[in-house]
Amino acid sequence: MANTRRRFLRLVGAAGLGGIAGCVGGDGGGGATPTATEVADEEDDHEEERPEGVSEEEFEHGPVPEPYRTALSQAEERRDPDQLARKEDVSFQEAEAAVEAGSAEPGEDCGNCAEYIPDKNGDGFGACAKVEGYVDPADWCVLWESIEEHEAEHEDDESD
Ligand code: SF4
Repeated sequence: MANTRRRFLRLVGAAGLGGIAGCVGGDGGGGATPTATEVADEEDDHEEERPEGVSEEEFEHGPVPEPYRTALSQAEERRDPDQLARKEDVSFQEAEAAVEAGSAEPGEDCGNCAEYIPDKNGDGFGACAKVEGYVDPADWCVLWESIEEHEAEHEDDESD
């Protein structure tokens, strides 16, 4: 995902620089320009980032496979497919990038978020009770909430 995008940009950047190096160096345009095989490898990587047969649209916006559709999150929050946020509206990104940007605290990621629905089919991706599409446990968004915090709030609600 974000990783894929970064890798794509890196590839485009490398191709751009290769083009410039080719002009300046006058070496016939070879230089650092990626070969077709390297480009294909990058595209393969891109494909590998998503479960097999899942389009980018599906990956980003769903629908997610049936077992996740109305599943409970790890803090027992029911997923409502009609009430989900779009990834772009909640700063959805890799947790590592969010920490680097100062948006997330180190250690916060989807895998330890109250809303996360863990992987059920072994493809490495889960889903979220609040956000659409496939979710990698190493991702993060602004709705992140610790399981403990969520449970404490829930207990408060019940005691009211
Ligand atoms: S951090 Fe955001 S996307 Fe990830 S599980 Fe929590 S609410 Fe869902």
